[in-house]
Amino acid sequence: MGKTALITGSARGIGAAIALRLAKDGFDIALNDVSERSFEDNDIMERISALGVKCEKFIADVSDYKQCEEMVKAVKETFGTIDALVNNAGITRDGLLLRMAEENYDDVIRINQKSVFNMTKLVGAVMLRQKSGKVVNLASVAGLYGNPGQMNYSASKGAVIAMTKTAAKELGSRGINVNAVAPGFIKTPMTDKLTDEQRNAMLAQIAMKRYGEPEEVASVVAFLCSADAAYVTGQTIEISGGLSM
Ligand code: NAD
Repeated sequence: MGKTALITGSARGIGAAIALRLAKDGFDIALNDVSERSFEDNDIMERISALGVKCEKFIADVSDYKQCEEMVKAVKETFGTIDALVNNAGITRDGLLLRMAEENYDDVIRINQKSVFNMTKLVGAVMLRQKSGKVVNLASVAGLYGNPGQMNYSASKGAVIAMTKTAAKELGSRGINVNAVAPGFIKTPMTDKLTDEQRNAMLAQIAMKRYGEPEEVASVVAFLCSADAAYVTGQTIEISGGLSM
């Protein structure tokens, strides 16, 4: 295929599932995560390489502009092009508003929101020169509807939805599509942290009466990175089993 996808926070969870799916679709894969340690307990590089595509990992904290700059340069040098960017890296630091520590607000905004600015600006410049590209941002149902205990997270994901629309408007005429997905409750290490009470409350609201799998997010992201979605931009697709109707 000769196309490259860069997926942030892809050592595990949804990011790893997206990387694997895009590799199956023929993309060469640039993995990213915040530390070498993130890759220690998994075989994501081996699984992708076994599919016969090129795969390299790039360690960078995507909330840090300088580190993003160095990573994008290295990815471009290694692969030649960057055709798809998936802004997936994200964290939660949940707590009710009146008890939320200021640093937990700031950390979530920096990692979930500022990272999207850093990466879209830097990879957007590469895509502008190529006159083509796909950007997919990981938002959340919390960014659409709010969620108790997630003032920081819902603010960051609401911003990601607004940033998706702005970038789509700025970059659309240059052949670059920018979309977002808004997952509901997906089974990953991020949601493993929730209590049974929180899980059951969520399940009661889901029309399909089950949680989502990372692969079910990956397939929608793969569609948005494909030629089949050529005329789709600025959109946020909810992947929640019918959480909010
Ligand atoms: P996860 O915690 O399992 O994986 C996130 C990955 O991002 C980890 O490998 C982590 O090391 C990496 N990461 C964290 N900070 C980073 C940084 N500064 N730089 C680079 N990498 C960093 O989470 P997940 O459930 O796979 O979530 C992936 C994305 O999907 C996140 O943006 C999350 O907000 C979003 N999301 C998840 C769910 C869900 O139910 N799991 C729902 C809605 C949205």
